[in-house]
Amino acid sequence: MLKAIYPGSFDPVTYGHLDIIRRSSKLVDELIVGVLCNKAKMPLFSVEERVRILEEVTKDLDNVRIVPFHGLLVEFAAKMGAGLIIRGLRAITDFEYELQMSQTNHKLEPNVETMFLTTGIEYSYLSSTTVKEIAAFGGDLSQFVPEAVAVELMKKINTKGECNK
Ligand code: ADP
Repeated sequence: MLKAIYPGSFDPVTYGHLDIIRRSSKLVDELIVGVLCNKAKMPLFSVEERVRILEEVTKDLDNVRIVPFHGLLVEFAAKMGAGLIIRGLRAITDFEYELQMSQTNHKLEPNVETMFLTTGIEYSYLSSTTVKEIAAFGGDLSQFVPEAVAVELMKKINTKGECNK
């Protein structure tokens, strides 16, 4: 049984992430979306909120499971019994960091391989950071995230208030 981990912050999940989730879920028996709990990154959504949102938008995918994690990715992979890490590659700017990460992970745990899926061309510009910026200025989010995510974003931004007052 081939089990893979697709790790990330998903703060929040975008159509770019969902494209990778859908495509990679067809390649493996079970896909675990690992939601990184890293307070140092100062996420907009708590890890519990990110897990809940991901569960909502992937509910039609039977072999996808959402699991929060903290600490080393290779340790999480070992705990889950997964020998494969999936990452998405957008542009050349992602490449250097991803190369370093995959080689480091391979050194730490030679039994874990990393596989890259290149982004769908229509999502190559898309990042969670851009989506949060558009939301903060009240822009139309419909091309970037599912409706459920847009609703959560607007709620969060309205609670935080303008300029975090
Ligand atoms: P991280 O903080 O680990 O980079 P992200 O949530 O930003 O977490 O991204 C998780 C994974 O999804 C990474 O492999 C990233 O390259 C990929 N990814 C992010 N945005 C897109 C996109 N628009 N298209 C394809 N892959 C993406």
